[in-house]
Amino acid sequence: MIKDIKELVFPKCRLCPRQCGVERSLHKGLCKTNNELEIASYNLHFGEEPPISGINGSGTIFFAGCSLSCVYCQNYPISQLKSAYKKVSTDELAEIMIKLQKRGAHNINLVTPSHFVHLICESIDEAKKLGLKIPIVYNTSSYDRDDVVLYLEKYVDIYLADLKYTNSSLSKSLSGVSDYFEIAIKALLAMYKTKGALKVINGIATSGLMVRHLILPGHPDNTIKVLKWIEDNLPDVPISLMSQYFPAYKAFEFKDINRKLKEIEYNEIVSYLNKTQIDGFIQDYCNNS
Ligand code: SF4
Repeated sequence: MIKDIKELVFPKCRLCPRQCGVERSLHKGLCKTNNELEIASYNLHFGEEPPISGINGSGTIFFAGCSLSCVYCQNYPISQLKSAYKKVSTDELAEIMIKLQKRGAHNINLVTPSHFVHLICESIDEAKKLGLKIPIVYNTSSYDRDDVVLYLEKYVDIYLADLKYTNSSLSKSLSGVSDYFEIAIKALLAMYKTKGALKVINGIATSGLMVRHLILPGHPDNTIKVLKWIEDNLPDVPISLMSQYFPAYKAFEFKDINRKLKEIEYNEIVSYLNKTQIDGFIQDYCNNS
């Protein structure tokens, strides 16, 4: 059990499952960041799932860097190339949370927070002292240590958490880690243990877990195994099934994913899903090519 999350960062960082052991006061780790908070942008965001964006928008904060290196990352300028970001202190991040709350945000949506979570916890503590009341959303790849998830019980209200792959060779070739599935399912079970399934009151999420999955072209078997795992292990947790994939970043170098999703692949998955008890949000087929 983690008593102080900073113990995972200093002197050598083991904060995320990569456990690369870098001295973050001196160097950048595999997440491409050192010990200074870096954000790419923050704003009200209306494109999340309906109970997250609501009417007023989700108070989204995008962090730079990432502990995964997905070759198709749709946020790659921020997560992989870090082409634009601003360093902020923990106090400044707390003030940003308060600003977003004042603008009417239904929640604070931390996008790719895992490699900065020790600093984000400080900001949340400070923001609460300044009057932050809206829920905290942890928007993650799920490549998170399960003991860190348990530690976050008092900081996080809602998990918007991916389950990307069940297959280690696919996760290795596309995201750079072969242990994605075993790490992610432990993290998801810890999220569920602490927060339960997503709770929605008057159309707005207040707490709990929703699992996201981006359908990759050429890998319907992967998506079906992901859905089966969710049905078997998190039967009351809603999913968000996304069809918006387009080849980005290095995806053009991978012949299986260098195109958008075909309608026939999408229909096969939706037809499988309709035979399960899984509930949630299914993005319409959105390949316009
Ligand atoms: S958070 Fe970054 S520095 Fe720390 S273990 Fe993970 S990749 Fe390495």
